[in-house]
Amino acid sequence: MINAERSFWESELYERTYDLVVIGAGLTGQSTAHFFKKKHPDASVLVLDRGFFPIGASTRNAGFACFGSVTEHMADMKIEEESNIIDRIRRRFNGLKLLRTTLGDENIAYREPGAYEIFTDEKIYEEALDHLDICNRWLKKAAGKEEVYKKTEHNGFPAISIDHEGCLHPGKMMNTLYQKNVALGIEFRWRSQVKHLDTEHSRLVLDEGIEFHANKIIVATNSFTSKIIDNIDIKPGRGFVFVTKPISDLKWQGTYHYDAGYYYFRGVGENRMLLGGARSLDIDVETTTEFGTNHKIKNHLLKFANGVLRLPKGWEIETEWSGIMGFTSTKSPILRKISDSTVVVAGLSGMGVALGMQLGREAADMVS
Ligand SMILES: Cc1cc2nc3c(=O)[nH]c(=O)nc-3n(C[C@H](O)[C@H](O)[C@H](O)COP(=O)(O)OP(=O)(O)OC[C@H]3O[C@@H](n4cnc5c(N)ncnc54)[C@H](O)[C@@H]3O)c2cc1C
Repeated sequence: MINAERSFWESELYERTYDLVVIGAGLTGQSTAHFFKKKHPDASVLVLDRGFFPIGASTRNAGFACFGSVTEHMADMKIEEESNIIDRIRRRFNGLKLLRTTLGDENIAYREPGAYEIFTDEKIYEEALDHLDICNRWLKKAAGKEEVYKKTEHNGFPAISIDHEGCLHPGKMMNTLYQKNVALGIEFRWRSQVKHLDTEHSRLVLDEGIEFHANKIIVATNSFTSKIIDNIDIKPGRGFVFVTKPISDLKWQGTYHYDAGYYYFRGVGENRMLLGGARSLDIDVETTTEFGTNHKIKNHLLKFANGVLRLPKGWEIETEWSGIMGFTSTKSPILRKISDSTVVVAGLSGMGVALGMQLGREAADMVS
């Protein structure tokens, strides 16, 4: 803690009441700030993040611009009503459209190389094919798209192709949004962790006794939300991802899903492959807000890469990392007013690339 009294100038500049303070500079928080500021150009908007840059999920994800594989929808059917699933597909579709038009395909390295769900178990494949019609009906209803899912074969595997799915560069996505927000006049403070949120007095308390006041507050802290708000239905879920060194003759250049979305892999840059997931293998241990590698999961993914995907001998990992997702019990995100001044938008449950901007815009409307 730096022990210094405030100067007159500091108090006047920094202790003013902001029109909007957003906690969390991930995709959701920055999108909320973006749309609020666009609607209210003269408003003072401040975004706080505990990281040197956003450190949660938005810069650490796999970059799938997706709206769900058939087995992912089948798993959702077990925990949620059909109308909610259709609504979420609609939001994912609209969210991706909004993200692409707001940031620009080139800026975020968006591409649609072809998406597939692959299968190694004949029984599960048959079951998935039995659900093709219903999933296609949902996509028609949610997004007006015909026959999105089709039976096919890919790289020798029984597969279902997925039209309209794409991928992007999450780092470029976040950097483009940040640059646009700075240009709009939004203020950012990094390494600024909110320790206490007083919703009654619209007061945020940070380290070193620093306080901010705001007319409106948005809490966009995803998996970390329960640290500052009580009784919130969000559990953390750690995800592990690695990217390989370039592999000559890489035959997995598209975007791929396996086992209800728990495994995902795709081509990245020049002949590299990104592979991640398998959280389901050790779900209790992975229910954590701590970053780090679970070696049981990593070893399993290595076996999957060698034994199932048959990557050519000698391939190597270039880099690996973890990120933390926030899951609600139904997987539907939370967008809720918790006091006159405060809205929580969190719990994007592994779908935030598609949902983040759309939810951010909805949150901005709620406090406008
Ligand atoms: C490994 C992995 C792979 C994924 N792959 C995909 C994918 O391919 N496609 C997809 O759609 N989604 C994917 N996701 C999910 C997606 O990344 C998230 O749903 C999305 O990024 C959530 O964005 P957010 O802004 O809500 O949260 P976050 O990006 O987590 O942002 C929350 C921010 O709040 C900050 N914060 C937390 N507490 C405080 C505090 N007290 N004070 C100040 N700041 C605080 C954090 O530092 C963080 O920057 C993946 C996630 C992971 C981890």
